[in-house]
Amino acid sequence: MIQEKELYRKVADACRWETAEAFRLQSRIHRLRWFDRSDIWVKRDDELSFGVSGTKLRKHASIIPSLKQNGIEEVVVIGGSHSNNVLSAAQTLTENNIRITPFLLGPPSQKLGNAKLFELFVDDSEIHWISRAHWSHCEDLVNNYVEKRKSLGIKIFVLPEGAHHPLALPGSLSILTDTLRNERESGVRFDHIFIDAGTGMVAQSLLAGAAALERKTIFHVVVLADTFENFKSGLSRVIQYTEAFLGVSLTSLPAYRMYYPATARSFGSTNSTIFKEIKRIARKDGILTDPVYSAKLFLTAKQAILDHALEGNILLIHSGGGLALTGFMDHPMFSAVVG
Ligand SMILES: *Cc1c(COP(=O)(O)O)cnc(C)c1O
Repeated sequence: MIQEKELYRKVADACRWETAEAFRLQSRIHRLRWFDRSDIWVKRDDELSFGVSGTKLRKHASIIPSLKQNGIEEVVVIGGSHSNNVLSAAQTLTENNIRITPFLLGPPSQKLGNAKLFELFVDDSEIHWISRAHWSHCEDLVNNYVEKRKSLGIKIFVLPEGAHHPLALPGSLSILTDTLRNERESGVRFDHIFIDAGTGMVAQSLLAGAAALERKTIFHVVVLADTFENFKSGLSRVIQYTEAFLGVSLTSLPAYRMYYPATARSFGSTNSTIFKEIKRIARKDGILTDPVYSAKLFLTAKQAILDHALEGNILLIHSGGGLALTGFMDHPMFSAVVG
């Protein structure tokens, strides 16, 4: 077990919180009216940044200082053409004068939203497109490229898909230290916390951090992009990273449940239920949600709260990603809902 102060100090050091240029990782909480209950709250990680999705800002907050300290000049970023992590990295790396070399699945038949915005940062000719048929060889292709660059004396780093990497751990753990701050400031202690998972890095860090503090909360993870099995193997890796980072051994995890999305199960897919929910959340609570992550989190949380008759204080983490909505503005389902 570790004390909260000690956890805070380690996260603060890794994210260089004492410096003026550090990413600000404090987000507020407020009550939701969305569900006609007074004990459901939302954590507004979507407010952490306009361009970088909330969870990505947390991850990059510890990755970037480490890259700078190690004199990294170039980063290979791997992911989908519409990935929030790829679009986020284009911003955080460029800002820090680190060259981004994208290896992306694609090209997509149609460039929308994030993929279009990405080309503000990187020219299409600089993207290493990998077709779906060759995607399983991505690692070899990246390794070949990295060896070539290294032989030229360039200091290069590879950022895996979704930034699931030990360097992202301290920043990811900030979701926990910041939620504890929210609890202190509001006087509300959360019995249930809902979070979405892509690669699962942030959700897994939340669980591992809660284990280190021996915090008793029930966590609800909406697994959007992967299988429960892969989430659990990612969790084992993050537990190891956490043990190394905090110098503790984690013997038991807090209680957690995993869910697949209540609707539009496959990653990135949408349907009219989702667009209706996006409109409902906007009308009722004044919050923008996106169809890939947060709207599915809200819908699935609603279902889980009903199915399991959840009582007590409930927190939904809105992880951001609103820019992805730009890719759906001309979607017929969007138009059908907005009218
Ligand atoms: C990437 C992302 C997630 C998932 O983060 P992981 O750490 O990969 O699980 C959730 N929400 C949004 C908006 C994201 O961009």
